[in-house]
Amino acid sequence: MVRPMYRSRSLRRIWRRTPGGRTVIHYERRRRGVMRCGRCGAPLGGVPISEDERRWLPKTKKRPERMFGGVLCPRCLKEVLKEAVRKGLSL
Ligand SMILES: [Zn+2]
Repeated sequence: MVRPMYRSRSLRRIWRRTPGGRTVIHYERRRRGVMRCGRCGAPLGGVPISEDERRWLPKTKKRPERMFGGVLCPRCLKEVLKEAVRKGLSL
């Protein structure tokens, strides 16, 4: 069993082949960056970049308070809503 700190998923796992042919796992810190839209990948506004801010800020300050705030960018939301309304779906 690996050390307890390596059992959590807070570090990302990278599989590396060693010169001797073994496969080992390297643990690295996950990359931090801007949050992106789940549909088109555009950077989301109104979402803090640093992990500390995301952890300690109140929920209302972590993402826009609209439907799919912090998940979809406004352009995608507009299209998704239009599509849903035209198909007669309820969100
Ligand atoms: Zn988008």
